[in-house]
Amino acid sequence: MSDPSLRDLANDYVLDLVPYEPGKPVDDVARELGLAPEQVIKLASNENPLGPSPKAVAAMQEAVANCHFYPDGGGFHLRNALAEKFGLERANVVLGNGSNEILELLFKGFTRPGAASIVTNENAFAVYELMAQLFGLDCLKAADGPGFAPDINAMLAAVRADTRLVFLASPNNPTGTRSSNEDIDRLVHGVPPHVIVCLDEAYYEFLDDAPDTLAYLREGRRVVLIRTFSKIQGLAGLRIGYGLTTTEIADVLQRSRQPFNANLIAQVGALAALADTEHMDRTKAVTLEGRERLRAAFEEMGLEQIPSEANFILVRVGDGDAVFQALLRRGIIVRSMKSYRQPEFIRVSIGTPEQMERFIRELPAALEAAGVGPTAAAS
Ligand SMILES: *Cc1c(COP(=O)(O)O)cnc(C)c1O
Repeated sequence: MSDPSLRDLANDYVLDLVPYEPGKPVDDVARELGLAPEQVIKLASNENPLGPSPKAVAAMQEAVANCHFYPDGGGFHLRNALAEKFGLERANVVLGNGSNEILELLFKGFTRPGAASIVTNENAFAVYELMAQLFGLDCLKAADGPGFAPDINAMLAAVRADTRLVFLASPNNPTGTRSSNEDIDRLVHGVPPHVIVCLDEAYYEFLDDAPDTLAYLREGRRVVLIRTFSKIQGLAGLRIGYGLTTTEIADVLQRSRQPFNANLIAQVGALAALADTEHMDRTKAVTLEGRERLRAAFEEMGLEQIPSEANFILVRVGDGDAVFQALLRRGIIVRSMKSYRQPEFIRVSIGTPEQMERFIRELPAALEAAGVGPTAAAS
């Protein structure tokens, strides 16, 4: 008898998985175009254009000398600092290797392969569905309303007896749209008790009048607030995020993680970044200014854009992939939305004022080269 093929040995739901398509790294593009990395700008992954907090960098440099030690698996200092900042106890805080790991811990802790489902909305962050596939679960997606707005009634209607997790990102990626406080309230109050509501707040700090979602925890609701150091704190490369939740849910997530999931440098860097409110304020100011500049430029070019509350804008350019490629040839990396099933759009992260000016200068030629031209894209 011949050996079984590896295809027969692997889980089909893993074999069927379409891998997450990340933003193209600067180095790859520079190599492909024969440019110096400094000539390439990346506006593709919603990273912080100012870089990390200088205080975080200094703290991490010092910590490097201690890398022979395992990290504090309990994350004592960072969890304490987060608890204090949000008026919670340390037992309410769970650290993750990026906030994406918090998502994964929710699946590990609360779902069973083939015997559970999750609910989210049509144009939600791609990782929810990806994770559901990886765990062999159904991902039930409620159709969005006009302007990509998640339809809360449709999401509630999609909940089944086997649904354990409901995901809503606000602001959402890739749309940049924010759900109203009333909608979030309706979702949290509307789910049956066997469902945990996961509010992904990766861009929370960019909101001017952020909702008090911590109130749901004070009410003892089965809610997880998922936050990250990757965006406003500029620490995406460190992979550090956190969940704020009830002590009961936190206990399940803690049991579901690897003993040292948040690394030593990340814990030290995040702790210092959390205290550097000046860097966060500066990041927010630069982001809002750049976003307004980009919004006005798109408007002037007659391009349809989705009003954004985050550090990026989704814009309709006709053939998104062609425009993505045309910009790439000019050393500008944005994100094609083909894998998000929105092939007419690109997503552009907010950069420094100089990066925004260069993008705005080059976009008309890229549209032209892609054969869409500003007028074609707008029609
Ligand atoms: C960027 C982003 C995250 C952050 O992921 P990390 O793993 O913390 O880097 C989470 N959710 C959404 C919706 C995002 O856009």
